[in-house]
Amino acid sequence: MTISLIKKTFGFVLLSMSTLQIQAQDIIAHQAASDKQMKDISTIKTHKILNNANLNNPATNVYSNWDNASVNSVAGVVPSNFKIDLRGFCMPTPSRVVTSKFGYRWHRQHQGLDIKVYVGDTIRAAFDGKIRVVKYDGNGYGHYVVIRHPNGLETLYGHMSRTLVNPDQIVKAGQVIGLGGNTGRSTGSHLHFETRLAGKAIDPTLLFDFPNQDIVSDYYIYRGEKIQKEARTSASALASVANDQNNLERALETAEKKASTNSRRNTSSRKVAQSKAKSYKVKKGDTLYSIAKKSGMSVKELCKKNGIKQTAKIKPGQTLKC
Ligand SMILES: [Zn+2]
Repeated sequence: MTISLIKKTFGFVLLSMSTLQIQAQDIIAHQAASDKQMKDISTIKTHKILNNANLNNPATNVYSNWDNASVNSVAGVVPSNFKIDLRGFCMPTPSRVVTSKFGYRWHRQHQGLDIKVYVGDTIRAAFDGKIRVVKYDGNGYGHYVVIRHPNGLETLYGHMSRTLVNPDQIVKAGQVIGLGGNTGRSTGSHLHFETRLAGKAIDPTLLFDFPNQDIVSDYYIYRGEKIQKEARTSASALASVANDQNNLERALETAEKKASTNSRRNTSSRKVAQSKAKSYKVKKGDTLYSIAKKSGMSVKELCKKNGIKQTAKIKPGQTLKC
């Protein structure tokens, strides 16, 4: 592939390479990520040709609607077993600093990943796609953008100072969609980044490795929680995703199978651990909040489990289910 072609089609890669020259102190790590993005160019090209036709109606296999209302206005069923092609990605920001993880925090679920960016920093589309939502939510995401991608994912970029795209616009991976900011429910400028499948938030660190500026692997196979809990056999679970494998994909799935077996082992050992610690004897100084926190659940869940109100008084010596 000639430099001019690369320049024309993948300007963003060259951009990250020039950053690489400037930031000499970090050159090895940068090189690794750029190599990966460069190496993927030929596959991206094929992939792009295949997907261009789908950009106007991305991922109709997952979504049954298209509207510009909000991130949650998604119609579609979360697939229980779904292979997401992550090739053709672009990191939304060159920042490597994750300031808050996905998961439970401050009594609520944090549906995304917070990445340190400064006001005015360039924010880019993670994949090719079609802009679904461009909105301002003063009590939440601030200025935010949701993009639907042909690989089935929707990505969300929140707290931006400005958005630079319009609803229904087609974007390419790496295209600038907005500028970093501190709008909405945010303390300190950062990018709130979400990855969703049919509305269900997936931990972005399972897909993107911000510290290394890379994807975690070429594919991510989403398995519904139900499947993990039910210990369905790997063979049948894999059979439903194995429609179009070549040898490479088969190798990937074998690796995935091993990982899934391990994860089920972990799940069952966690189940044993949980059943051992089913009840909790209230100690002096305990509150519903402190017990809920220790048990990894919300106060609401704890109260529901014990059939008590959130305002209920608890006494030392009392036993709670958790
Ligand atoms: Zn956040």
